[in-house]
Amino acid sequence: MKLVLGASQVGSSLPASWENSVAARSLLVILAHPDDESYGLGGTLAKYAADGVAVTLICATRGEAGIDGLTPEEAGLVRERELQVAAAVIGIADVRFMGYRDGKLALADPEAAVDQLVGVMREIRPQVVITFGPDGISGHPDHVAIHQLATLAFDRAALPARLFYLAPSAATEQACGIAPTLETPGGSVAGIDVGAHLVTKVRAMQSHVSQNPPYPGPPEREASHLACHEYFALARPATAGSGLSDLFGSFAEGGDLRAG
Ligand SMILES: [Zn+2]
Repeated sequence: MKLVLGASQVGSSLPASWENSVAARSLLVILAHPDDESYGLGGTLAKYAADGVAVTLICATRGEAGIDGLTPEEAGLVRERELQVAAAVIGIADVRFMGYRDGKLALADPEAAVDQLVGVMREIRPQVVITFGPDGISGHPDHVAIHQLATLAFDRAALPARLFYLAPSAATEQACGIAPTLETPGGSVAGIDVGAHLVTKVRAMQSHVSQNPPYPGPPEREASHLACHEYFALARPATAGSGLSDLFGSFAEGGDLRAG
């Protein structure tokens, strides 16, 4: 299987001086399809981007199976463009595709996929990595597969970083239309207040025109219908903590990732 990371860049690349700066915050989100980022955690990504965090998105596929009536190649082009628009809305500076085919990620060679993800992790050295949990929110096989691959890669990269899983919540239920039924893994859950970024989240969701966004009206009006918090379960490290309101912040017991 052909694997090409870095095939598409949105916006400028990171300033070289940031690479070795402990003060620079970097967030890597690893998902399966164009629109996962907006529907699942568009508010959180917008919040951190607005705060100056360098946000990188790795999308395993181009969503080739997602548009009835179009060939996979045609659909992939449409959905890649939609993702680029959404990324610009959110403030995601760096979008990369792994090049897998929508619906077939579970058939990927795991070693090759993990190697690619480890390479990106070691390149950008994020303090925070986010991916799907074991439930994949919707149970989509690609979501479950990218959860497994990203978790393996995180463990292999061995960075001083946190790994969070997108946690089922009102926010994900609103976006996916599927009531979460599976247990959320891990002991600590971070609730991120995205109330100030809901209009941006709606605009990002609406960027995925081909997916018939569930909130198609004026963003300022639709935003009032969305949950004000998005939730993330801490998967690594296995630190007991509570009340985490910042993915980069300190636990009651634990280190502040910005310090090291
Ligand atoms: Zn998806």
